[in-house]
Amino acid sequence: MKTIHPKNNFKSPKTGCRNLVTGGAGFLGSHLIDRLMNSGEEVICLDNYFTGRKSNLLQWVNHPNFEIIRHDVTEPIRLEVDRIWHLACPASPVHYQFNPIKTAKTSFLGTYNMLGLARRVGAKILLASTSEVYGDPEVHPQPETYRGSVNTLGIRSCYDEGKRIAETLCFDYQRMHDTEIRVMRIFNTYGPRMLPEDGRVVSNFIVQALLGEALTIYGDGSQTRSFCYVDDLIEGMIRLMNGSHSGPMNIGNPNEFTILKLAELIRKKINPKLELINKPLPQDDPLQRQPVINLAQNELSWEPKVDLEEGLDKTILWFKENI
Ligand code: NAD
Ligand code: UDP
Repeated sequence: MKTIHPKNNFKSPKTGCRNLVTGGAGFLGSHLIDRLMNSGEEVICLDNYFTGRKSNLLQWVNHPNFEIIRHDVTEPIRLEVDRIWHLACPASPVHYQFNPIKTAKTSFLGTYNMLGLARRVGAKILLASTSEVYGDPEVHPQPETYRGSVNTLGIRSCYDEGKRIAETLCFDYQRMHDTEIRVMRIFNTYGPRMLPEDGRVVSNFIVQALLGEALTIYGDGSQTRSFCYVDDLIEGMIRLMNGSHSGPMNIGNPNEFTILKLAELIRKKINPKLELINKPLPQDDPLQRQPVINLAQNELSWEPKVDLEEGLDKTILWFKENI
């Protein structure tokens, strides 16, 4: 017999809100879980541990409001939850290019499965999308209305196009099934718990500097990124979920830096004597990236608070204790 689930009928008797965090053992997911758990909510973390680590969650193991499920989002799952924070997907180019077909499956099938779950139980769902939907942008800085310039065939396409179809799926579920969606376009975020071997620029430079190695600048270092500290990002994510705007919404720090400037800053903080060496620029590496955040400022009263110097100091301290 088919079970009919009335919309929003699964409010937790204990806390009023059951959260599913996919990719919860990863960098952003584990920080989100800290925030939710510290607010007294119930959390189910779902992860396949491709780039996530149980050690990011040790502080919550055995807590009565917390559960971990080892599961791959490319497979469907049945759970009763009120809110789905869908973060599961490798985020660093090194990891998402390791098995690009799997990355595309994770983005498409994973989002499809989570939207199906959201629809079945009447849950609200937030998709962790990315600034990569803008590709190598011809419009600078990037507002949400910019449709992007993505290579469909390159080595970043599995991720970029994967996130684009994931966004499309969200809006089709909203149109067809009235699913309550939130689509968040995350710009480069850094902080404690990035994997030391992640390949992302902030973790690479800090780890190289702490190990006394030369910092590897891809290309001439004139390409730009805008770096957001993780605490600011998580605050934006929570406000987006709790607010009434579906998105897509940029969440990121609009302070733009060249990669060379970032290397010089990290070197100065850890060991000014270190060498900077150049390596080839990877294919399709975007030349510039900076979010327009007016929408988040107006809709969520959100803007980043932590500047790069302060965020780097906190991140360096964490890496010193953890590598
Ligand atoms: P991360 O690699 O640290 O975390 C991703 C998590 O998802 C890991 O725990 C990994 O094990 C898990 N995962 C991967 N594939 C899975 C699958 N098939 N099934 C279940 N779990 C799976 O990355 P992150 O930086 O925490 O990124 C989280 C989300 O935010 C990703 O969706 C990413 O695309 C998005 N995002 C991050 C950034 C950033 O700067 N950190 C920027 C843009 C978008
Ligand atoms: N980068 C670099 N040296 C490194 C790692 C990355 O110069 O050791 C560059 C990379 O080519 C890109 C920028 O830093 O231009 C940001 O790279 P990351 O992988 O962190 O993020 P994304 O390219 O996805 O924005």
